[in-house]
Amino acid sequence: MSAAESVAVVGTPDYRTRHRTWLAANLPPHWRADAVDYRPPSLDEAKAWEAELHRQGLWGIAWPREYGGHGLSLREHLIANQEIGRLPMPESQNSIGKELAGPIILAIATEEQKRRYLPAILEMREIWCQGFSEPEAGSDLAGLRTRATRDGAAWRVNGQKVWTSGAHRAQRCLLLARTGSMEARHGGLSLFALRMDQPGVTVRPLRQITGEAEYCEVFFDDALVEPEDALGEPEAGWQAAVRVLEVERGTNRMYRAWRFEQELRHLVTACRNEPALARLLEDGHYRQRIAQVQVDVEVLKRMVEQVVDDLVGGQPIGGRGSLSKQHWSEAHQRFAALALEMVEQASYPPSPEVAAAQRRFRKLYLQARAETIYAGTTQIQLGIIADRILKLPRGA
Ligand SMILES: Cc1cc2nc3c(=O)[nH]c(=O)nc-3n(C[C@H](O)[C@H](O)[C@H](O)COP(=O)(O)OP(=O)(O)OC[C@H]3O[C@@H](n4cnc5c(N)ncnc54)[C@H](O)[C@@H]3O)c2cc1C
Repeated sequence: MSAAESVAVVGTPDYRTRHRTWLAANLPPHWRADAVDYRPPSLDEAKAWEAELHRQGLWGIAWPREYGGHGLSLREHLIANQEIGRLPMPESQNSIGKELAGPIILAIATEEQKRRYLPAILEMREIWCQGFSEPEAGSDLAGLRTRATRDGAAWRVNGQKVWTSGAHRAQRCLLLARTGSMEARHGGLSLFALRMDQPGVTVRPLRQITGEAEYCEVFFDDALVEPEDALGEPEAGWQAAVRVLEVERGTNRMYRAWRFEQELRHLVTACRNEPALARLLEDGHYRQRIAQVQVDVEVLKRMVEQVVDDLVGGQPIGGRGSLSKQHWSEAHQRFAALALEMVEQASYPPSPEVAAAQRRFRKLYLQARAETIYAGTTQIQLGIIADRILKLPRGA
């Protein structure tokens, strides 16, 4: 379908049906995480697929047309994400570009920067990573030490980031760096769009318990930031970073609740078709725990829909992103443990379908360990809820 035809797809009354039909017809079956012959896409395949998703109106939905978006609202974004979540599709290789960098660029960047960065993100020409956390600054982000110093009109960056997801494939880093004194803490930070393909940047992927190496250490040694790649006002980086984190907790990967439900359906289907597992579905203990997962999913869906309603109505996300982040990460971790516990009770050798479920849920269990850490830990979310939502007094 041409780009011109794809414009007709978005905004029509049968918007949901069109996306559902297109995805069902075009998602390669072996890319489905529940497929017996599952094979994830290569980076080049993923780039081509995601660029096509954008042409089909499934990415950049609420971004203005002049920056490559489809000029619709967060409501259509939600519908598209519900359809994406219904299928066990590959995760985006550029979710940081599309879901974290994009919104903050739209909010604080210059017109020239928006025209330069945003279409490149949607067309998958530039993948972004998020350079916030450091070895000594995670929860306490305001303590970060990576420093950007003036070099004429440009900046030179020195320091180290860690847990930088996808840095090994990124062309840009949304970098939070210190431009003022350590004593200034929040006040001395600035935000940059640093080019990753330059001599002063070294990326070292870290091997994870899943066997993958997705999260990286990034070292800056006099790395250059051109003047046109400084984002927002100097020393106003903290306010921008807080907005990025609110988006990360509130609207990022909006499909999560529907993907979570798809995972639950996969578990139940895999169990139904295997006698040893089917018995678990009749067991009161497992029935209760499975039903609780469905409750968790429904609560999460309502939370996401409420955030969208509020944003469309002009209310900022604020601390409420912490509610859904906290709920999702804890509930999803419980689900992953339950799913693994169940599928591991299959008789041996497992059928191809049960083997596919075992492969998926073993990986999910390991991946989910990090969900209560990234985008801010459980304790940090609870602190935000206590402070900003409940306005509880602080102890001495
Ligand atoms: C898989 C993964 C991917 C990530 N991707 C990125 C990325 O792309 N970009 C990026 O910048 N960062 C990324 N991170 C980093 C992530 O944001 C940090 O790990 C997180 O903020 C916690 O920081 P920390 O690891 O330094 O732990 P710490 O801040 O040292 O926390 C250690 C423990 O102390 C607790 N704690 C700390 N402060 C408080 C407090 N005030 N009150 C109560 N308890 C507290 C924490 O809850 C935690 O249990 C990623 C992390 C993971 C695990």
